[in-house]
Amino acid sequence: MFTTTVYRQAKPQTTPDDLFTAINDLKRKLNAVVLAHYYQDPDIQDAADYIGDSLGLSRQAAETSADVIVFAGVHFMAETAKIINPEKLVLLPDLEAGCSLADTCPPEEFAQFKAAHPDHIVVSYINCSAAIKAMSDIICTSSNAVDIVRQIPKDQPIIFAPDRNLGRYVMTETGRDLVLWQGACMVHENFSEKKIVQLKIEYPQAEVIAHPECEEPVLRHADYIGSTTALLKYAKQSDSSEFIVATEPGIIHQMQKEARDKQFIPAPPMNSCACNECPHMRLNTLEKLYLAMENRTPEITLPENIRVAALKPIQRMLAMSH
Ligand code: SF4
Repeated sequence: MFTTTVYRQAKPQTTPDDLFTAINDLKRKLNAVVLAHYYQDPDIQDAADYIGDSLGLSRQAAETSADVIVFAGVHFMAETAKIINPEKLVLLPDLEAGCSLADTCPPEEFAQFKAAHPDHIVVSYINCSAAIKAMSDIICTSSNAVDIVRQIPKDQPIIFAPDRNLGRYVMTETGRDLVLWQGACMVHENFSEKKIVQLKIEYPQAEVIAHPECEEPVLRHADYIGSTTALLKYAKQSDSSEFIVATEPGIIHQMQKEARDKQFIPAPPMNSCACNECPHMRLNTLEKLYLAMENRTPEITLPENIRVAALKPIQRMLAMSH
């Protein structure tokens, strides 16, 4: 078991009015790069040097020459950046920004699960803790999961963790029989199939585009399934002008920027709540981003043995991704 050092943020005496200017000044002063996930608030996306999904952000983290990486995303993403860049300062605007999916895979239980399948290799979705990555053979993202599993010899049994919905989707696409860890994302399991069908009736020309972390009944209604980057690309290129978007609605900010004449309708959750928004991602704010840079904390740290073990399966993924 490993621990991550928790640093408490000092309260600022003043907060600059123009946070964008202040953040840009700090980028120059610290030689910092701001990486943001598509599920972040729109103003954080607008302050970022690079916006992407997990695969794109991992690549950026591996290639950056910055001294400081400010990761506007959730904990496992910043942790991945630290695994790849042990010498760099990696900041996460809010250390409480975790992930319900990563939390469904506790390391001790997963070690027992793995021990019960000794002839299997472990392919883990990047949405897991460093401890799970350290127990994995290859990491994947929703962009490359299908392609990575296809590259593994057919007679090699595979455990797929932690997301059962992405695992089931990979099974369908590859025809492979995977042993699935039964984890799930609270956001992507919350879309209402019934309300999506109602929206399809209301907007008969709209295409449903969905992330593979959604449950099978939702995916059945999808005209296109893909990672956030793939959904963005598809929405831009498709001839359709209306889309029902079944993933975290933060992505709609980029969709609207890149396809201004099209309409994007967020897929509704089951209850009348905002629970299609990731509560973990939304803990980060522009103010916290500024404060993290100003105070150079909260910092992500990792025990070196975990970091080294977790690095190998990430490097395998990067080598196997086109
Ligand atoms: S949307 Fe789901 S998988 Fe992504 S960070 Fe939030 S809880 Fe985790």
